[in-house]
Amino acid sequence: MERTEIIRWLRERNPGRLAELWAAADRVRHDHVGDQIYLRGLVEVSSYCRRNCAYCGIRAGNFRVERFRLTADEVLDCAARVADFGCGTVVLQGGEDPKLTVDLVASLVRRIKTEFGLAVTLSFGERPLADFHVLRAAGADRYLLRFETSNPEVYARLHPPHIAGELPRRELLRELHAAGFEVGSGSMIGLPGTSYDDVANDLLDFRELDLDMIGVGPYIPHPETPLGSHPRPLPPNEQVPNDWLTTCTVVALTRLFCPATNIPATTALATLRPDGRELGFRCGANVWMPNFTPPRYRASYEIYPGKAAPTHAELRLHDISEILARLGRTLGRGPGPSPHYLTRSVTANTRASCSECPTSSVATPSIS
Ligand code: SF4
Repeated sequence: MERTEIIRWLRERNPGRLAELWAAADRVRHDHVGDQIYLRGLVEVSSYCRRNCAYCGIRAGNFRVERFRLTADEVLDCAARVADFGCGTVVLQGGEDPKLTVDLVASLVRRIKTEFGLAVTLSFGERPLADFHVLRAAGADRYLLRFETSNPEVYARLHPPHIAGELPRRELLRELHAAGFEVGSGSMIGLPGTSYDDVANDLLDFRELDLDMIGVGPYIPHPETPLGSHPRPLPPNEQVPNDWLTTCTVVALTRLFCPATNIPATTALATLRPDGRELGFRCGANVWMPNFTPPRYRASYEIYPGKAAPTHAELRLHDISEILARLGRTLGRGPGPSPHYLTRSVTANTRASCSECPTSSVATPSIS
């Protein structure tokens, strides 16, 4: 698909035309990652962060947010519940909290692997390169680090550097690959200042960065952030909207561009519409991340307001199975690695990349 066609799809608002695109993405999802939906139990470990990303509600400069940091025992208790619930993976997520030392995280990873046999995904932002190797050696399977936008000026404005000379996230993604992780990234749709061309670049970057997991969600303004109070959008005809329709279109295009990756139906999409998660699954997604953070802490992890994240206490496996049955999907068992990663791993010497995925054979509706 040429860039001009990507942009025409991103600008398309006709529901009938978009339904064709989403159906094509759903077919590609079926052919490349199957009908299973894999559960990843999300545990928000710490809301402390040293950074000041302009869009994020738990940025260091927001003094109105209550901070928490789970103890090691609390993390292990959450992991036990994740395993009991039937998830094959636990996702440990947090801000860039200096007190989450590499030794502490590595010890948690080792204990989770030994005691519960779960795959472990980490999402703790930017860390020294040596940390990635220590965490991988401890048994961590995956690392998530979203680059948020491919527009370097917007990125620099929204994501001020913490120390001089630090590597941009795109470079860190390559280091995560080199350390042997299954690597996830993604972008935010409708960040003020981003154009349709920028989102087309995001999609091309997903492929170029050879990602195994890709999360895309809408930008949801937080009032206690610089971007929430002073958004500085482009003129209306140039600014990409942060709505559910555009987000679903990007999910569908992501599936068409990177057919064998794992793609979550994001909580941010579910925050925009009660049926947002189901919509995500209909247009290419295959991963669900229920939230296992203890309820007393969950409200404090307010990256954006109104987060739609039922906890394990509110969401039963039976409810999930019913939703999946309505979609004609089944529950995935086990860790559910991305087929793209498996291909990369077994052909390490003749490395398969996104550009070698058989997208050329994918029948996509043309737009005119
Ligand atoms: S987006 Fe991540 S790194 Fe940035 S302030 Fe929020 S938690 Fe910290």
